[in-house]
Amino acid sequence: SVQKLFGIQLPRYARVNTLKTTVEDAVDYLKRDGFSYLGHASSLDDLALRKKDFVIDMHLPELLVFSPKTDFHDHFLYKAGHFILQDKASCLPAYLLNPPVGSHLIDACAAPGNKTSHLAAIMKNKGRLFAFDLDAKRLATMSTLLLRAGVTCQRLANQDFLTVDPDSQEFKDVEYVLLDPSCSGSGMVCLRDNASSADQDARLASLASFQLRCLNHGLKFPRLKRLVYSTCSVHRQENEEVVAACLQQNPGFRLVPLLAEWPERGLEPLPQCLRASTTKTRTQGFFVALLEKHSGAGGPGP
Ligand code: SAM
Repeated sequence: SVQKLFGIQLPRYARVNTLKTTVEDAVDYLKRDGFSYLGHASSLDDLALRKKDFVIDMHLPELLVFSPKTDFHDHFLYKAGHFILQDKASCLPAYLLNPPVGSHLIDACAAPGNKTSHLAAIMKNKGRLFAFDLDAKRLATMSTLLLRAGVTCQRLANQDFLTVDPDSQEFKDVEYVLLDPSCSGSGMVCLRDNASSADQDARLASLASFQLRCLNHGLKFPRLKRLVYSTCSVHRQENEEVVAACLQQNPGFRLVPLLAEWPERGLEPLPQCLRASTTKTRTQGFFVALLEKHSGAGGPGP
């Protein structure tokens, strides 16, 4: 595999689905199943694990970390929906958005639903989680994933997010949006980009314009408090540049500084955002920004 070729061995991550079990019970189950629990990780080096050793991640308290070759696809904990197999970086958006129990929120580009199931777990299945995706096949996969994960607060729609009406009565209480739109995927360790640079520039420009339209659209929901934007791209054009353009067009919003202890920041001038990579965070390449409405700005008024 490409991972082996380049000597980049990412750990295997499994997020404990708290709709089905607890971290403690999952740890106990694994110990009985022959895995060795080494406690909480405290540094990046603690994520370099051997054989059947595992730890709890130092940033995400519901994330278990295993050696690279561990495969859970046939394991009870995965099949029963207790484990969601998700890269560490892709756990950041829902964790940072942190919607309160009972809130109404939108997952704008949701399939196959890993982040949707994470949001539902944080909300304890209470509230309303509107999830959209353009691709019917991916949405079908998502239904299966959510069923296995015990998610019940979702309303799935096979719809272009850009056509969702922010002023509809249905969304009047939406305060949170998670936007994880299609991107180049350039952060994925398994994908390599062979396109010529002219082709690549055109492709990135078209993705960035789509991403910016989605971002601007997401900010139009009248009660919106916070929106998280994420990509699995390493390109500045799809990350910092999209966010900077959006902030310029939406002066009522600002960036929230994220996780001071996270080792990799957004490129200048956006250090409030996070980046992730194989070398600095032992994850796929990733980008996250959290936008928040200024108090008093643009609300519906008293
Ligand atoms: N958030 C998902 C997860 O964690 O499992 C992954 C989302 S993937 C990066 C992007 C998704 O956006 C794809 O499933 C794609 O079909 C969908 N998509 C692309 N354009 C869209 C649009 N205009 N409206 C809604 N969904 C769209």
